[in-house]
Amino acid sequence: MSTELIQQLRHLVGPSHVLCPDDPGSDLIAWEQDWRRRARGRALAVVRPATTAEVAAVVKACAASGTAIVPQGGNTGLAVGSIPDGSGTQVVLSLGRMQAVRQIDPDNLTVTVEAGCILQNLQQAAEQAGFLFPLSLAAEGSCTIGGNLGTNAGGTQVLRYGNARELCLGLEVVTADGEVWDGLSGLRKDNTGYDLRDLFIGSEGTLGVITAATLKLHPLPAARLTAWAAVPSLPQAVALLGLAHRQLGAGLTGFEVMGQFALSLVGRHMPQLRVPFLGDAAAPYCVLLENSDNESEAHARERFEALLETAFEQGCVSDAVVAENIAQARQLWHVRESIPLAQAEEGLNIKHDISLPVSRIPAFCEETDALLASTILGVRLVNFGHLGDGNLHYNVQAPAGGDARAFLHEHEDRVNTLVYDQVTRFGGSISAEHGIGSLKAAKLPHYKPAVALALMRRIKRALDPQQIMNPGRVLAD
Ligand code: FAD
Ligand code: ZN
Repeated sequence: MSTELIQQLRHLVGPSHVLCPDDPGSDLIAWEQDWRRRARGRALAVVRPATTAEVAAVVKACAASGTAIVPQGGNTGLAVGSIPDGSGTQVVLSLGRMQAVRQIDPDNLTVTVEAGCILQNLQQAAEQAGFLFPLSLAAEGSCTIGGNLGTNAGGTQVLRYGNARELCLGLEVVTADGEVWDGLSGLRKDNTGYDLRDLFIGSEGTLGVITAATLKLHPLPAARLTAWAAVPSLPQAVALLGLAHRQLGAGLTGFEVMGQFALSLVGRHMPQLRVPFLGDAAAPYCVLLENSDNESEAHARERFEALLETAFEQGCVSDAVVAENIAQARQLWHVRESIPLAQAEEGLNIKHDISLPVSRIPAFCEETDALLASTILGVRLVNFGHLGDGNLHYNVQAPAGGDARAFLHEHEDRVNTLVYDQVTRFGGSISAEHGIGSLKAAKLPHYKPAVALALMRRIKRALDPQQIMNPGRVLAD
């Protein structure tokens, strides 16, 4: 049966676009292993269609044979949701050849793009047309629009522009039975029934395959200024955020927090980068702020400096640097964005992408830091994230010099339970960005209300009755 299906797939998309593990010289590691190298699956085949019609034909063929499909974009997801399981029976449907920017509509402020388009390429295409596509994350050189929408990605500009969901006006989707739904409207208002678009966004490939999207564009700001501030404590970082909201209004486009240990990993593994206030005992946290201005750079700088002055006076900032030019701003952002990579260099770790009401973050961290320290001797906390959105990457690293894989094996479940219980107690969510994938699928039922979970299961059954779309992801059963 599987040989028959592979023949059929080769006929549909062309023989060179169906890769199988037993092809001579075949190496499918790029599609079978997750970004963090936490897991490696085995694919029946990797299929690389070039058009929506080909995606539909592939899905139809898989549906007819009851074969599971794992949609894959850039394979940068952090929840082990984009690789096949180990059974050798799942087809990886890679959108990598569908990269076209189909249309830019300057009057409607929209762009229509295929799902396999790399985020950075879309940002550049928008800029060349005189617009800003604001979604921005450290994986932007490899992640794709389909994956961004599949995971409802967030990143560093959510505070001002929203996450992938809020940037999306319409989708084109191949359903689990191989039909094409053309919902590529550029409409900002459409109240004609249930919002199907929002069902597919964040569904992590479990309901259908996103093949294209119509997304919002924004005017390019006249100036973007970046500052790096040393803050004496987490409550003061929250106070600085409040102040920045009040003084900069919609100009505040980024507000990232970074603990000193997270920065020390960048210092250790990327010694070529200059990390401001590294090791400064008076600055247990640093904050990266971005101010975008539609008027002029001078105006932006004036407002930024006024903000920092008030912040010094009120004691929420002990020291700060404002980037003098774009190159310096890029360097500061580069330090922030290097944290996940530095952490990966340090070794496997337990990642959390939690969200909490901003007001409760200091109390959450104080309690949870202490709980973790008393539960596992020497445990190291890599705490950083998008404080402006209430989203922390509250990551747990093995004690120095320890065997990271053994640490994960022994402690991962316990650490996750401890952190997620705390998140729940403080009114937060166990995943603000990366999604559930297979990593958190077993935990989800403990933290999602039973009624919500039952509705999700019904939606899954209605849209994918054969359970072929990325099975076992998000919903474990
Ligand atoms: P993949 O990894 O290929 O897939 C992710 C999920 O989406 C899978 O479940 C997959 O089945 C599904 N999917 C992929 N394509 C489609 C499609 N066309 N239709 C339907 N489903 C699909 N995330 C954030 O939100 N914010 C961050 O700041 C952030 N920073 C990151 C930094 C680094 C260094 C890395 C490695 C990752 C980061 N991520 C972040 C994780 C983030 O989820 C991904 O980078 C990105 O959104 C996934 O895109 P992708 O194309 O790689 O998707
Ligand atoms: Zn993030």
